[in-house]
Amino acid sequence: MRIESRLAQIGSVSEPVTGAVSYPIYNATAFRHPRLGQSTGFDYSRTKNPTRAVLEEAIAELEAGDAGFAFSTGMAALQTIFSLFRSGDHLIVSLDLYGGTYRLLERIMGKFGVTASYVDTNDLEALERCRTESTRAVLIETPTNPLMMVTDLAAVSAWARSRGLLTIVDNTLLTPFFQRPLELGADIVVHSATKYLGGHNDVLAGLVVTKGKELSEEMAFLHNSIGSVLGPNDSWLLMRGMKTLALRMERHQENATRIAQYLEGHPLVAEVFYPGLESHPAYSIQRKQASGNTGIFSFKVTDARLVEPILRHIRLIAFAESLGGVESLMTYPAVQTHADIPEAIRRQVGVDDRLLRFSVGIEHADDLIADLEQALVAAEEETKGAGSRG
Ligand SMILES: *Cc1c(COP(=O)(O)O)cnc(C)c1O
Repeated sequence: MRIESRLAQIGSVSEPVTGAVSYPIYNATAFRHPRLGQSTGFDYSRTKNPTRAVLEEAIAELEAGDAGFAFSTGMAALQTIFSLFRSGDHLIVSLDLYGGTYRLLERIMGKFGVTASYVDTNDLEALERCRTESTRAVLIETPTNPLMMVTDLAAVSAWARSRGLLTIVDNTLLTPFFQRPLELGADIVVHSATKYLGGHNDVLAGLVVTKGKELSEEMAFLHNSIGSVLGPNDSWLLMRGMKTLALRMERHQENATRIAQYLEGHPLVAEVFYPGLESHPAYSIQRKQASGNTGIFSFKVTDARLVEPILRHIRLIAFAESLGGVESLMTYPAVQTHADIPEAIRRQVGVDDRLLRFSVGIEHADDLIADLEQALVAAEEETKGAGSRG
């Protein structure tokens, strides 16, 4: 079955009792045992819940893995993955990292003696340089957010495997519809399903998919032991969102590409970061390993003074954090999503005070371009005024 069909059919083909086309929400926390020593396969919902199980099977299949796990948030999913490691272990992590993942590693995992080095994970020499005896895994975001740095997943997974390291990929921005890291050699995929998979800015969730029996069993043990599992209502809501993933991703990509091209030619824009543009340095790697591009990109305006009025003047596009929903959102990474990353690292990566991030929704591209154009014109007018006042 092609991925579009599998997505549309999530939860629709597996309910044997009534034939319900939308899978039921099982709120039960406990399940009656037929007799001593027997189980229906469900005992207690933290361990396994029927509604959550349908979601977990679907994501495992979509990502071409062996087992899927649903968590209350993306951060809970990452925390549970990090619980694979112990004091003294070292991780190599993508430099332009999601701020919350950086905070979790530095402020929490650090207390338990797990350390991390942040590098451009596409640079094999840099990976080799920061590898130590204690290194256990590489954690990759590709493309990164907000700077859209791309890592060659097949090359880095092969390198990691040859050194006995796990490869963990945060696939939030592309989803299995466009990119399947496990097929390229990774061991674990993690998602903030809050973003594209849910797709409607109305449910928080995290998903993990593992490859291999041992790793899958270890993750099942941690998932149940730590217990930050996704509830049945949210599992259902996430599946409802995922059914339209193919349509949404295609529209996100189409809109983002058009708007990135428009901004690339705009006199008030200095730079556009989007792997779907031929000008992007990793355009060919991106094309090789993914069948499409995400709906989010970043751009630098020519003058930092334009930022505040742009954010004030956008009307259709909301000034809000998060990404991946049907509604367009714009954010200012330096002071919002990346506030927890020290300024030195932020600058090294290039998240400066001229950078804006745009999560392009599924509205009509012409309406989004018109909104951007009026905001840019108004911002230019205001900064000219400010300039002449000295
Ligand atoms: C949002 C996000 C997370 C965290 O997920 P939550 O669902 O907000 O906890 C992790 N990684 C990436 C790339 C994200 O965008």
